[in-house]
Amino acid sequence: MAIPNLQQLIAQYPLTENLIALEEVCWFNPSSTTLTNGLPYVGLNEQDIQDASKRLTRFAPYIRRAFPETASSGGIIESEVVDIPHMLQTLALQAGTHIPGRLMLKKDSHLPISGSIKARGGIYEVLVLAEKLAIEAGLLSESDDYSKLLSQSFRDFFGQYRIAVSSTGNLGLSIGMMGARLGFSVSVHMSADARQWKKDKLRAHGVNVIEHEQDYGMAVIQGRKAAAQDPRCFFIDDENSTTLFLGYAVAGLRLKQQFDQLGIVVDETHPLFVYLPCGVGGGPGGVAFGLKIAFGDHVHCLFAEPTHSPCMLLGVYTGLHDAISVQDLGIDNLTAADGLAVGRASGFVGKAMERLIDGFYTVTDEHLYHDLGTLSQQENIQLEPSALAGMSGPLRVMEDKAYRSRLQLSDLVMQNAIHLVWATGGGMVPESEMAAYLQKSTQ
Ligand SMILES: *Cc1c(COP(=O)(O)O)cnc(C)c1O
Repeated sequence: MAIPNLQQLIAQYPLTENLIALEEVCWFNPSSTTLTNGLPYVGLNEQDIQDASKRLTRFAPYIRRAFPETASSGGIIESEVVDIPHMLQTLALQAGTHIPGRLMLKKDSHLPISGSIKARGGIYEVLVLAEKLAIEAGLLSESDDYSKLLSQSFRDFFGQYRIAVSSTGNLGLSIGMMGARLGFSVSVHMSADARQWKKDKLRAHGVNVIEHEQDYGMAVIQGRKAAAQDPRCFFIDDENSTTLFLGYAVAGLRLKQQFDQLGIVVDETHPLFVYLPCGVGGGPGGVAFGLKIAFGDHVHCLFAEPTHSPCMLLGVYTGLHDAISVQDLGIDNLTAADGLAVGRASGFVGKAMERLIDGFYTVTDEHLYHDLGTLSQQENIQLEPSALAGMSGPLRVMEDKAYRSRLQLSDLVMQNAIHLVWATGGGMVPESEMAAYLQKSTQ
């Protein structure tokens, strides 16, 4: 699809002008529909998520020994969900409004191994590859105790293969940590905006970090090119990977279990709103898919992006998906939100999931920092800026009466709402860096 000229695009899609002006924009998707109607477009189903979940269970005995910090959860990489009532009050107070319902935080920021949501998709993708190679070589069967993968002979086996990935930081960290632990030779192509401490951590674990001077899109092109010349090298493609997507989707089923344990009901009169920071889209898309499968039409997902990188909003809103980038609009794709600095959305995720996502909104970096500081003060939880993108979601939902009435979310029902902000990163940010974030939040 050709990109229409800018004037035409703005005439047809007026919000584009607000995106270009770098304003905070919120767009509720008029084409969102029921799970039954939307599911056929995804091309994946509940069984696929169950398979992914079982694979993670097979690897649990290995993970708990390879990464002792996962021992308390039996080698299952999962995060807690906590109430943040003081944050709820403060958000409402600062906005001069009332936010009915309960505000909770899903702390993927504190996932073991890599401290971000990428510990779901990235690690899962490496495990899929490792299992496939080992089974094809006749070294492993699904009924084995996978802790045998800790042995030197397995490390030598995996050492014959290479993994390449492009990343703004967190994906590289997850794939690098997992790949290197198994014995793979891993190359991470880092975009210019990747933090030094992430590169240092990877290098300390024997990962080959290649630094690129351009943004994520360029790092992908160059990483893919390098891998194509090497038949024993697997390039992990963040933009189009259904494997990654399914690794994330497992989170939906697990959240259902966590809610069951907490006695939290989600149904027609108890809606669940989930606010997901979006970069290329695999993380929030996969999680949203899992959530839809777990909770059906009573979960409402919103994607949140920086005003400087609104690639998914742009792609879905205009229907152009990955045929348009924010740079095409003259937007610079520069943001403090690591992981969200993506100029072109995944075509796969947008096309597969658009009917199941209620809305998309953008948030300024200043706003991210402001919420970062408020959360630290009110709840003593420290996150990286990207992880705050979801925090303004409840306000966006409360501001739009038309959206709520279209979905028959009455004021009475909203009293029972659960607003779940998906915190996607920050657990491993070094103290000095966190101090700088907090400093910025008060400016
Ligand atoms: C990668 C990332 C996201 C978004 O995931 P995508 O798959 O790129 O959409 C959100 N937050 C953080 C901290 C991330 O690293």
